[in-house]
Amino acid sequence: MAVAPELLADRLRRASEEAAEQGVDLLVVTPGTDLRYLLDARGSSHERLTALVLGAKGHAAPPALVVPKLEAPGWADVPLTELGVEIVTWTDGEDPYLLVSDLGGGPRRMAVADSMPAAHVFGLRDALPDARQSLAGKIIAELRMRKDSAELAELRAAGAAIDRVHARMGEFLRPGRTEAQAGADIAEAIVAEGHTAAAFVIVGSGPNGASPHHDVSDRVIQSGDMVVIDIGGPLASGYNSDSTRTYAVGAEPDPRVRDAYEVLRVAQEAACAAVRPGVSAEEIDATARRIIADAGFGPRFIHRTGHGIGLDVHEDPYIVGGNPRLLEPGMAFSVEPGIYLEGDWGARIEDIVVVTEEGGERLNNRPRDLVVL
Ligand code: ZN
Ligand code: ZN
Ligand code: ZN
Repeated sequence: MAVAPELLADRLRRASEEAAEQGVDLLVVTPGTDLRYLLDARGSSHERLTALVLGAKGHAAPPALVVPKLEAPGWADVPLTELGVEIVTWTDGEDPYLLVSDLGGGPRRMAVADSMPAAHVFGLRDALPDARQSLAGKIIAELRMRKDSAELAELRAAGAAIDRVHARMGEFLRPGRTEAQAGADIAEAIVAEGHTAAAFVIVGSGPNGASPHHDVSDRVIQSGDMVVIDIGGPLASGYNSDSTRTYAVGAEPDPRVRDAYEVLRVAQEAACAAVRPGVSAEEIDATARRIIADAGFGPRFIHRTGHGIGLDVHEDPYIVGGNPRLLEPGMAFSVEPGIYLEGDWGARIEDIVVVTEEGGERLNNRPRDLVVL
C-alpha cells in the first residue's frame, strides 16, 4: 500500500523546515528508513551513490534524487514528478559527490543520513572539504516521532498480528523442545499472521531468559522454566511489531519467581498507565524503575524501559533516564521493563503504547498475568 503523495509532499516540506531550524543547509539521505519515510522508497545503499538531496527552507536548492543511471528504472513507482523531485542520473566514471555539491549549491552545513555508508560520507567530504557534516537522523526523527493516523493504523495492525502469534504460544512451547525448535515455529507463525518477515525471535528459557537480547539456542526447555518470548517483524508497509511475554512452561514456577514476576507486572502496568501528553520520557522510565527498585530488584533491571517504534524497530523517542523529551499525541514506543537474575531466570513484559490526547493506547493486549503453558 503506497503512502499518499500529499503526505510525502508534506513530509518533504517539514523536513526542509526542520533542517533550517536545526541550522543545516542541505539534507543528503541515502536509502534506508529515513528515505522510505520521505519518499516511500525501499532499497538499500550500495557502493554507487543514490541520495535524496533536499535543501533546507531558505537555502532553496530544489529537491533532487541522485541515482545511478542503471538503477533509474527502479524508481518508476515513486511519484517524484508529483513531488517536485528532479531525478538526476550519473554513469560509472562520473563523480556523484560533485553532483551533490552542485545540486546543493555548495552547502556549508550538510546533514547526512545516519545509516549512510562511510564510503559515501567520505566521498562527500572530499567533494565538499569546507562543509561541516552532521547527522540527518535527529532532523527527520522530529517528523518520524509523531505518527500520523495512517502510520498509527499500520502500527495497530502490526500489534494485532504479533498478538495473534503470542495467542498461539501453547502450540510452540513445550518441555523437551529446544529453544531453536520453538523459535523456528514461532518465526513461521510471525509470517503466517501477516508480517513479511520475522525480524527477531528471542526464546530465552531458564537461565537464558536473564540475557535480554538472547537469540535462540539448543537448550532444551525444562518443565517449570520461565521462558522470555520477544518477537516482531515488519508488515508490508514497513511498520514493525515488537512484543514480549514471559511464560511458565510445563509447571508452576517457584513462588519466589512468581512474586518477582508480579513486581514486574505491576511496574509495567504503572509505566503504561503513566503515559499521557506532557509527561517526560524519563518519567515513564522512572515509574517502572522505582517499583522494581523498591522491591529490591533495581540492579536486576539492566536496560532502558523502552524505545520508539515505526519503520525502525528501535527509533526515537527512547524511554530512558536522562531523556527529558515530553510525550505528544502520536508518539509510539515500547514499555518493556525486565528483571534478570543471572544464571537463573529472567522476565520481561513488553507492549507498544501510543500517546493519545488523554493518555495512552496499548497496541498489545495479550494477558500480562503469568500464563502457565
Ligand atoms: Zn530489545
Ligand atoms: Zn522492544
Ligand atoms: Zn521486544
